[in-house]
This record gives sequence, structure tokens and C-alpha cells, in this order.
Amino acid sequence: MRGSLPENLRDVLPRAELDVEAALEKVRPICDDVRHRGAAAVRELTARFDGVEIASTRVSAEAIDTALRELDPKVRAALEESIRRARLVHRDQRRTDVTTQVVPGGTVTERWVPVDRVGLYVPGGRAVYPSSVVMNVVPAQEAGVASLAVTSPAQKEFGGLPHPTILAACALLGVDEVYSVGGAQAVAMFAYGTEECPPATMVTGPGNIWVAAAKRLLKGRIGIDSEAGPTEIAVLADETADPVHVAADLISQAEHDVIAAAVLVTTSAELAGAVERELPAQVSATKHTERITEALSGRQSGIVLVGSIDDGIKVVDAYAAEHLEIHTANASEVAGRIRNAGAIFVGPYAPVSLGDYLAGSNHVLPTGGCACHSSGLSVQSFLRGIHVVDYTRDALAGAAAHVSVLADAEDLPAHGAAIRARFDWQIPTETA
Ligand code: NAD
Repeated sequence: MRGSLPENLRDVLPRAELDVEAALEKVRPICDDVRHRGAAAVRELTARFDGVEIASTRVSAEAIDTALRELDPKVRAALEESIRRARLVHRDQRRTDVTTQVVPGGTVTERWVPVDRVGLYVPGGRAVYPSSVVMNVVPAQEAGVASLAVTSPAQKEFGGLPHPTILAACALLGVDEVYSVGGAQAVAMFAYGTEECPPATMVTGPGNIWVAAAKRLLKGRIGIDSEAGPTEIAVLADETADPVHVAADLISQAEHDVIAAAVLVTTSAELAGAVERELPAQVSATKHTERITEALSGRQSGIVLVGSIDDGIKVVDAYAAEHLEIHTANASEVAGRIRNAGAIFVGPYAPVSLGDYLAGSNHVLPTGGCACHSSGLSVQSFLRGIHVVDYTRDALAGAAAHVSVLADAEDLPAHGAAIRARFDWQIPTETA
């Protein structure tokens, strides 16, 4: 992309094609089945899609205790530190109620109220994500959500329970309501409720296309965060970047999924060449070589050469990546000019892996370009701001004439009448 940038920049950039609409057709009967037959349907769907029979969708307290007792002490220490850092950041996101005096005797208070009950989805198909337990639970707890339930797919090798590290992470966070259910049926279970699981007001958390489709289908009946899809990394780099770091970071996100996206945007052809030479060596030395190779060679991944950092910023803004790393001279200044990204990682010592586990930031972030209008999971995701309107008789009198005029202009005279009813059916003469 040397020279002038194309007008339809967003359309020409590499991106995974995820046809959530097509998945809706498959997900609709799954959700209907759960709605009409409850826990029996959830158990049957688990046998069908996860290949394991479960006697109950609810995980017992003993299973959670055992998982914590048997947790590797090193993993426990790392999870505890991850929780501590995430709490620091998310506690600072708490909102305080604000009262504005609009006129004497007339106030509007914005009161922040948490949703009543949240179902938190922790993926568990290809990889296991105890870190996602932390990233979902901590903001919900800091928001003050009273009732929290976690669900994660039943694992055949663990007798139909979620992965033990997920159970142990729940225990460390004080969550005792856990279900061994994944996919669309998990979202439907929370939306409609079953004999074994009371309905939730909201479902959050990342998942595969079936989870995303169920969230899209049931949105409205339940609140959702976003349809967090396959992970993405974009790296904006100039000639000062270290190709070894850049390659390692692209690989680290490609490791999530064969449709994960890894995109390098650079002003330096030399760096692009060096990264291209570095990638095969690092890929062959890592564990999930096949998955990473497929992700890096997919149409969603690639290298974009630009003529200047200004153009690079335009490109990454159009792409609106879930994760954006800045490896340039004056990285902080460049980061300050970015408008669209789920999270921004500044300079050589803030790789996305740090954000995945231990930066304190949240890793449930908008994907598929949604970062141009949405944020990642936060305390705010679990709060509703309710306006509380409190006016005295005099304050209402001061607004009455204007309300009446606007009501007539909208041809809604009963609105004006509701004001006049309080003043012997007259509009008071005084105005604000
Ligand atoms: P998952 O838990 O989302 O999905 C597994 C479930 O899918 C299974 O329990 C099964 O019931 C259901 N399923 C499987 N095949 C099905 C089929 N053919 N029809 C209907 N249902 C079916 O786990 P996953 O598959 O590993 O996907 C996790 C996704 O979440 C990945 O794409 C990963 O990149 C993403 N992720 C995103 C973030 C983020 O913050 N954006 C964080 C972690 C993971």
C-alpha cells in the first residue's frame, strides 16, 4: 500500500470470514430444544456435541474443591497474581452516582445499578481458558453483580466436568455455581433457565461461532457483551522494531485458532522481510505448529506495507484490531493517535501475551472490526445507568410551557395534558 491508500481500506484488509448468520439456522433448533425441554435437552446436546454423557449440568461443590486442592501450586500462584492485578484495574472502573441540579428544585441523578444475574461463558473447545474465568468474573464482581454462574464445556477426559483448572479458577474467585455446558446450549440454558440452572439477565464471554450465533439469536431476551470471535493481533512497526519479537507476538495469537488473524503493518520492507524469514523458524519450534501455520497462511493474516507511520495509523484504525501492538520510535506518541483498537500494547515490553494473562487489563475484547464502536469487557458492561428524575411543583411549573409546545409540535397533546392536570388544567405562566 505504498502511495495513496484505497478508499475502501476496511474492505481490502485481511479478515476472517465468519458467517454467524448461516450458523443461526443450526443454532435456532438447539435453543428451542433447551427452551422446551430444559436440562434434559442440555444433557443430550452435550452428549451430541461434546461426546460425553453428564448426569447433571451443575458441577458439585466437591468437584470444585477437589480441583482447587489438586491445582499445581505454580498455576495457583500465577492465577492469584492475575486476579490481583485485574482487580486493581477493574476496581478503578467502578462508577459513582452523579446528581445534576438542572434548575432549582429539579435534579437528575444517574444511578449505576448492576444487572441481577450473569452467566459467564468460558470457552473450552480447542484450548482451555482459566484466564477467561478471571477476565469475566472480576469485572462482574467489581460491578457488584449479586448472582454469578460460570459455564464451560464438558470435557470427556475429565468425566464430563469442565477442565479442572477452570474449576480451580472459579474456586479462587469464590464462584461456586458452575455448569459443565458449552456451545449454543449454554447460552440458551442461561437465557431460558432450566430445572438445574435459574435464568440469567445477561451472558458474557468469548466463544466459537455457535456461541456467537446463540448470543445474536437470544440478544434482547438476555443482555450480551459482544460476539467476541476469533482472536486478532495487528502490529504497527517501523524499522526500529525487533523482527524476533514481532514474529513471536504474531505467532502467539495465531496459536489460539486456525482462523485467528495476525497482521503486520509496517513502513519497513526490511523488517517485513526479516519477520517473514523469522516466522518459519519460530513456528517449527513451537507446540501447535499446524494450527499456527494454518492461521498465518489464511486470508485473514498477512503483511501490509505502508509509506509512512501516518498511513500505518490509518490502516490500523480501519482494521480496528482486537489487539494492537505498537513497535515504532515514539511508541507512546503513536499509540496516543490510534482511535480504533480493543486494546493497545505500547513498545517492546508490552506483548499481547502479557495482556492475555497478567497486565491487569481485560482480554475479552471486540473482534471483527467491532473495536470501532465497542469496548472490551469491563465493570461498565455489567452496569445500567438509571436516570432518576426528581422535580418539585415549582420546577415543573417552570418547564410546563416548553413541554406543552414540544408535545403539540409532536402531535402528542396528551403529553401536555399530563402537565396541565397538575395545575388545574392550565399551563402555568412562569417559565424556566
Ligand atoms: P467454545 O467453548 O467456544 O466451543 C465449544 C463448544 O462448541 C462445544 O462445547 C460444543 O458444544 C459446541 N460445538 C462444537 N461443534 C459444534 C457443532 N458442529 N454444532 C454445534 N455446536 C458445536 O470453544 P472453542 O471452539 O475452542 O472456541 C473458542 C473461541 O473463543 C476461539 O475462537 C478463540 O479464539 C476465542 N477466544 C476469544 C477470546 C476473546 O477475548 N476474544 C478469548 C478466548 C478465546
